Amino acid sequence: MTETYPDVQLLIDGKWRPGASGKTISVVNPATEEAIGRVAHADIVDLDLALDAAKRGFAVWRNVSTFERGKILRRAGELLRERAERVALLMTLEQGKPLTEARIEVMAAADTLDWFGEEARRAYGRIVPARAPNVTNLVLKEPVGPAAAFAPWNFPLNQIVRKLGAALAAGCSIIVKAPEETPASPAELIRAVIDAGVPAGVVNLIYGVPAEISEHLIPHDVIRKISFTGSTAVGKQLAALAGKHMKRITMELGGHAPAIVFDDADVDAAVKLLVTSKYRNGGQVCTAPTRFLVQRKVYGPFLDRFVAAAESLKVGDGTAPDTQLGPLANPRRIDAMEALIADAVGKGAELRIGGTRLGNKGYFFAATVLANVPLAARAMNDEPFGPLALVNAFDDLDEALAEGNRLPYALASYAFTSSATTSAALAARLEAGMLGINQTQVAWPELPFGGVKDSGYGREGGSEAIQDYLVTKLVTQAAG
Ligand code: NAD
Repeated sequence: MTETYPDVQLLIDGKWRPGASGKTISVVNPATEEAIGRVAHADIVDLDLALDAAKRGFAVWRNVSTFERGKILRRAGELLRERAERVALLMTLEQGKPLTEARIEVMAAADTLDWFGEEARRAYGRIVPARAPNVTNLVLKEPVGPAAAFAPWNFPLNQIVRKLGAALAAGCSIIVKAPEETPASPAELIRAVIDAGVPAGVVNLIYGVPAEISEHLIPHDVIRKISFTGSTAVGKQLAALAGKHMKRITMELGGHAPAIVFDDADVDAAVKLLVTSKYRNGGQVCTAPTRFLVQRKVYGPFLDRFVAAAESLKVGDGTAPDTQLGPLANPRRIDAMEALIADAVGKGAELRIGGTRLGNKGYFFAATVLANVPLAARAMNDEPFGPLALVNAFDDLDEALAEGNRLPYALASYAFTSSATTSAALAARLEAGMLGINQTQVAWPELPFGGVKDSGYGREGGSEAIQDYLVTKLVTQAAG
């Protein structure tokens, strides 16, 4: 444990505690490769305690009024804002992202708690007109039950808070399996919720071996709802397991977002927004623009300006105030980048900048741009999840749409155009859960966030999100 980084414990039934076996997992700072702390490891015995706690917590929380739930969630948001500097620093130390990005993530998590605090009060049912005068048809909304949430390391707070906020607003208890590689900042999110007054057992936090935990929790009788964010491959395995046990699921999986720049776009504005969006969090973002499709007339100018802007990004330790591109979160991403780039170059792609690891300490990787990338290159088909932009030219709308819709991924998509006709065609024909036109912000708490096709289903924002944690009960009643 360093001076600033704590050893992280499990939270079960309202108590912070080590795992029953005493085992712990090392946490590494990706900027220095030094071990900075340890996180408690939950075994089956801890999981069973968490399941018992979640069962009892649900019995309590479902009967707390929606007004009171809302108040507690908003109080948690305030606590998080008060603690933002410390939480952001923990996140940068464990995950690598620049402090400015970590601060934004903490503030966004607080906004998400606010949003769900409001939504709690609006989980309305309805009355359906009856066929007989003495009958009343009530459609009631009830919490689905204890939820199990599995969240990855790229947004240590935001991947959790969307599940946590929706579950708590709906009246569900929850077991959060938080990321072992970035455990301290999510523990602070959970602490804010507990300090705000969520009763013991309603929220439980565990870390351990992901597959062991999911295989125990998903089939378990107590758990009624699963939410997972991560790769499509793992999501499909967990969805199959959940299906076998008839559990409700939300799946937020991979993406490979097209960013289509038309001849009539404001190229400078597109470059500015797309460079920021591409290299944010080192590109380890499921909604990051990855396949840049640029119409022939502006292809050259766009590419030159994009390369210049990407090259000027300041790479460094996320704790340095001027850093714009931190280290990647773990060495697996370095290996993945090297393999994807070597494969693409081997198949004829043109390496414009980057392509290599930087320095010999820390998982730093240069902002990389590949141009004229053949569709056969793996990078054009597998989610890159790193600081890699793939820039290709196209001639007309149909060609752009064909490429945009070519992959099974369909999470975010982006387009830059000044034509209302082109915008309407994209809105109608692009297969995606989200489309940003002339802007790249698609993930506010009040907007429905999620994908279609292999990118998953369910929504983690907007008024849709709480519905995934509610079940519908019909009560049709005749006057007795
Ligand atoms: P990975 O596929 O092993 O893990 C992805 C996430 O799933 C991790 O959080 C991991 O803890 C979890 N996980 C893995 N197996 C699990 C299981 N059996 N049960 C429950 N959880 C399980 O690989 P990784 O190296 O951590 O990440 C690599 C890939 O994952 C990336 O290339 C990217 O495609 C994807 N990913 C996506 C997101 C996202 O926001 N959608 C976030 C992180 C990673």
